[in-house]
Amino acid sequence: MPSYEEARAKVVEVVRERRRAAAAAERLEFASNPAGALGRVLAEDILADRHYPPFDRATRDGFAVRAADLAQAGAKLRLIGESRAGVAFAGTAGAGECVEIMTGAALPRGADAVVMQEHARVDGAFVFFEQPAKAGQNFVPAGKETRAGQVVVARGARLGYAELAMAAQVGRTQVLVAPRPRVAILPTGDEVVDVGQTPGPFQIRNSNSISLAAQVALAGGEAVRLGNARDELGELRRCIERGLEADLLILSGGVSVGKYDLVETVLRQLGAKFFFDAIAIRPGRPAVFGWCQGKPVFGLPGNPVSTMVTFELLVVPAIDLLAGREPQPLPFFKAKLARAVQQKAPLTHFLPALVSRDGDEVQVEELPWEGSGDIGAVVRGNCFLVVHASKLKLAAGEWVDVLPRAAGLGVQG
Ligand code: AMP
Ligand code: MG
Repeated sequence: MPSYEEARAKVVEVVRERRRAAAAAERLEFASNPAGALGRVLAEDILADRHYPPFDRATRDGFAVRAADLAQAGAKLRLIGESRAGVAFAGTAGAGECVEIMTGAALPRGADAVVMQEHARVDGAFVFFEQPAKAGQNFVPAGKETRAGQVVVARGARLGYAELAMAAQVGRTQVLVAPRPRVAILPTGDEVVDVGQTPGPFQIRNSNSISLAAQVALAGGEAVRLGNARDELGELRRCIERGLEADLLILSGGVSVGKYDLVETVLRQLGAKFFFDAIAIRPGRPAVFGWCQGKPVFGLPGNPVSTMVTFELLVVPAIDLLAGREPQPLPFFKAKLARAVQQKAPLTHFLPALVSRDGDEVQVEELPWEGSGDIGAVVRGNCFLVVHASKLKLAAGEWVDVLPRAAGLGVQG
């Protein structure tokens, strides 16, 4: 049984090798609706149209000076004009002269430093300076941030607020983006009813259809929800065939060893090749990954928390690759364990947990939960505490791995 790292690496290897050429990129106008472009993957490099800053840009309100005039404290310079944001000073600052300047304005010719107004005193046509100045202080030279023609956002990047701001800064109102992979979502189970229905006493609502659709969107895919398939060979087969029309198919439920767990049987009938059908984690052990009729297929366990966790570990990198983007490492971080934790099963555990601040430190505590059906524990928490199979006993105060909830992480990396 592979570890989650091995399973994830296998998904990346197989999808990278077998994926079809991506469909044509599309032009997306983002200036009128920036939120509509969030999370899309760039299908081109974006280049700087000019130097940034385009001119020597003051970073303080004050006075533009020649540093040589301020070699010593107590200098007195003649004030010859002003440079404001958007309107540069037309002349040149000569020896013994200074120009009033505002943040964002261009440094006048001749000047090579800006002195903050807090360190100067105006007296009529003259300005007195308390302190010496150094050449280069308080302005950013033209082209220091970005050179004209430089790649400022690279192909394959996911568009977040900074990437969109950069595209806008260099004059774009539209960008070329990769099409979002279409991800079919097919929950299974005789007990599962649509979320709009009132379940019978032993039925449950199809919450996996909702969490998976949300996770697909956060991961950059376009969810195609196929309702729910009953645990019956014929119906399951028809639904799976429909799901295989998408770029990727995710099933939930029906992958354990129960009498009515038929997903693998039907996929096999349809010619699937499997790369693993269990991984050494909890929750989520029975997760299946295969290739069927040219498409990647995941059979995720039906317990809601298992479905969520296995999606983050296994499906996200597959969606990245289909969207034309390199898979990102899992966004683990370290936190100090508030209370000791011990697990018995030799599996890597992803436990619903709460990260909070404890003075200067980030701490994490495991939340009480009733296992992989308990969505409430995930809702009360904000992350998963990772207990690795290699070290099942963790003492209070240890620094441990934490995986944030929600890959929306997404525009995270
Ligand atoms: P299974 O993986 O089919 O054995 O299902 C495991 C558990 O997950 C059972 O308690 C199911 O009722 C529950 N479950 C299965 N599918 C869903 C779903 N679509 N939404 C919510 N819970 C589900
Ligand atoms: Mg089931």
